[in-house]
Amino acid sequence: MTAEKVYDVFIGGLGVSGASVSYFVCEYLKGATTIAGVEHYEAPALVNSKSMHNAQTLHRGENETNYDLSHAIEMRDKAKILEAFLLAHATKGDGTYRRVSKMLLGVGDAEVALLRKRYEEFHPYFPYIKLLERDEIALYEPKAVEGRDPKEPILAFLVENGFAVNYQKLAELFIASARASAAARGKTYDTFFNTEITGISRDGKLWVITTTNGTFRARIAIFATGPYSLLFAHRLGYAKDLALLPVAGSFYRSKIPHLLNGKIYQPQKEGLPFARFHADTSVEGNGETRFGPTAKPLPLFERHHWGTFVDFLRIGTFSLRGLRALASIFASKTVLGFAFKNALYEMPYIGKRLVLKELQRIIPTIRARDIELCRGAGGIRPQIIDLAKRKLQMGIETIYGDDSMFIVTPSPGASSSGKTGETAARKAAEMLGDEHFFDEEAFRKEFGN
Ligand SMILES: Cc1cc2nc3c(=O)[nH]c(=O)nc-3n(C[C@H](O)[C@H](O)[C@H](O)COP(=O)(O)OP(=O)(O)OC[C@H]3O[C@@H](n4cnc5c(N)ncnc54)[C@H](O)[C@@H]3O)c2cc1C
Repeated sequence: MTAEKVYDVFIGGLGVSGASVSYFVCEYLKGATTIAGVEHYEAPALVNSKSMHNAQTLHRGENETNYDLSHAIEMRDKAKILEAFLLAHATKGDGTYRRVSKMLLGVGDAEVALLRKRYEEFHPYFPYIKLLERDEIALYEPKAVEGRDPKEPILAFLVENGFAVNYQKLAELFIASARASAAARGKTYDTFFNTEITGISRDGKLWVITTTNGTFRARIAIFATGPYSLLFAHRLGYAKDLALLPVAGSFYRSKIPHLLNGKIYQPQKEGLPFARFHADTSVEGNGETRFGPTAKPLPLFERHHWGTFVDFLRIGTFSLRGLRALASIFASKTVLGFAFKNALYEMPYIGKRLVLKELQRIIPTIRARDIELCRGAGGIRPQIIDLAKRKLQMGIETIYGDDSMFIVTPSPGASSSGKTGETAARKAAEMLGDEHFFDEEAFRKEFGN
């Protein structure tokens, strides 16, 4: 295949982010009539957005204790877009999402005090949060109380109507909706699978994107290719102050079915951009409970794909500046201790025992024989390193270049994917200029203000 036609918008990568960009561009970007979506693998969302490779949570910010109020409100507003899309487009019971309770469990005096304080501050902005004492916790999640020392103080936040999301199915839904939208508006949305992007260059005002399946020309290029987005940005000379620390996450699963009714999170450890171990009933509703994810630095761009080590070597982490930044990040005892502990979590015998200690804070009666490592599950978070500040950066990052965008998505990138798509479509309208605009009225109709 050689796609010599010029596309208005080229979207590289069809994980949940690229799929969402496809939908928002097809539906709301007026004036753009030809759109291409290009994916390395044979189907959408087979990397980090794949159902088994992430924790399937739609994060709204209230339960993530490393988010202060303003950050949590920002997260809530991003999540609202996805919630509205799911409720309007997914068919109830088709496995794209499941309404589940989401609990934040504080154990011990310090965490209980933290939750009480957070409740006072957050409740006016998140009025749906319930504060649960021990007896009420037992009503929602009996296993969180069963066998627990009655003298151990506990308190919980509860969100009754949270979302567990199969982000792989959501990506498929975004793509199907993009196709329907393009067809209804006389646009072309072409998708190309089994097509790896290998290079990008400029030819006058057009981008020339080379792939294993021919060359594409486009006015706007959007990369939603996970860690590869930063690699492509670097190749064009953008964001040289950013590098990546890939952090793999694995899961354990319970051999006991129907252990929990929903999701149970723990307050975050200060100074770490990763969620602490949590317990999640699966989105499939098959009674499986998964625990995790672990957080282990791994020099790969894709889990289980050792060939991607070479790509990692090109991202700047192994430069002098990168190594200085790493030294500064790991100089923190919290980060070093966390990384060391996490490296042990997947070791035979000892790993399970260490995981168990963390899990028994959530489910006191769980024993080593009740859990097993989920082989083949779990992805890699492309955690962003700010080389100038020598720090790990929280959250996702979009790098804007000439008529181009590069979206890098550590956790909770899937929860923000609706907002990512909306923002990319708005920016693309600005970049395309005259006679291209983002259809605010139609957007407000679907998503409110
Ligand atoms: C263990 C773990 C748990 C997580 N839990 C959660 C959670 O509960 N909630 C949440 O919101 N987020 C969570 N996340 C984060 C979330 O999974 C990601 O932020 C999200 O899936 C990113 O989506 P994406 O489409 O940007 O990237 P990906 O899903 O990685 O998709 C990138 C796509 O680009 C394609 N691609 C890459 N390079 C090329 C190329 N050269 N040519 C063509 N195509 C290419 C890939 O094949 C892939 O399909 C978790 C992540 C991990 C690792």
